[in-house]
Amino acid sequence: MIIRRFFYVFIVILCIFGLCCNKTRFMYNKINGIMSVNKLFLVILFGIVIACKSQSKSENNTTQKVKIESEKLKVKDQKLEVKNLTKNYVLGKFDFTKHSDFVCVPKKLSSKKIYLRKEVLNAFEKMATQAEKDGISLKIISGTRNFDYQKRIWDYKWNEKYKNVAKNKRALKILEFSSMPCTSRHHWGTDMDINNLENSYFEKGKGKKEYDWLVKNAKKYGFYQVYTSKNNGRTGYNEEKWHWSYVPLSSLYLDFYNKNITNQDITGFQGSEFVSKIDMIKNYVNGINPEILNYKN
Ligand SMILES: [Zn+2]
Repeated sequence: MIIRRFFYVFIVILCIFGLCCNKTRFMYNKINGIMSVNKLFLVILFGIVIACKSQSKSENNTTQKVKIESEKLKVKDQKLEVKNLTKNYVLGKFDFTKHSDFVCVPKKLSSKKIYLRKEVLNAFEKMATQAEKDGISLKIISGTRNFDYQKRIWDYKWNEKYKNVAKNKRALKILEFSSMPCTSRHHWGTDMDINNLENSYFEKGKGKKEYDWLVKNAKKYGFYQVYTSKNNGRTGYNEEKWHWSYVPLSSLYLDFYNKNITNQDITGFQGSEFVSKIDMIKNYVNGINPEILNYKN
């Protein structure tokens, strides 16, 4: 727009210069009978000023319109996030493969078919690109898991892996690393496991470099480690150096969960009779990195 204004000013200057020039004056003198040179100059000048003003006004209007529209969209989007949330969504009782807000993670970023919310994948791609530039490879090894998927994991551990542990202790044993169905953050499409499922992998060599990079940089892209060290009194699952969450979105979902879900909603699998005794929502769903609990959108 500034360039255009300079252009108009340049034309005006050119006109003035032209009118002062004898040769040009000679040409204008030919039409002197119809209109005097001074009058012609004034008409041209007036035309340019009007064109300049209306152009700048319309550009201003368009810029303002676009700005207002994008603000509206932003607010609408934020409202939609909360508006579209349902109890079934945060409990993982929906088909994410058919949900329009979910996308499949590209092969170069994952080892298998994994789904995440679009916003989350978008942010992860930006983070992975920067990581790659820094010599760090980030691969998603687990993303969204719904109620049924989580139930399969839970049932296997309940019926096979820990079948010899007394029932009243079995749930707690499984809960060292695995969530009960209805309580997993993997239901939300905002959380993912990166590179490896062993803490020891991230404590030396290549894994340590990857973890150190994430600790230093992930927050810039909205990602936080969810299950940090329990040394500071955090309750719930053991530390998981691989589990990261896109907090700008997951903090909204956690807020919804805390307002709408009770321990009575956590049901439909073996061992669910221990949910209230363990106080799943207080100790596990909210037993997370305090930075996430205090996160403000
Ligand atoms: Zn995980």
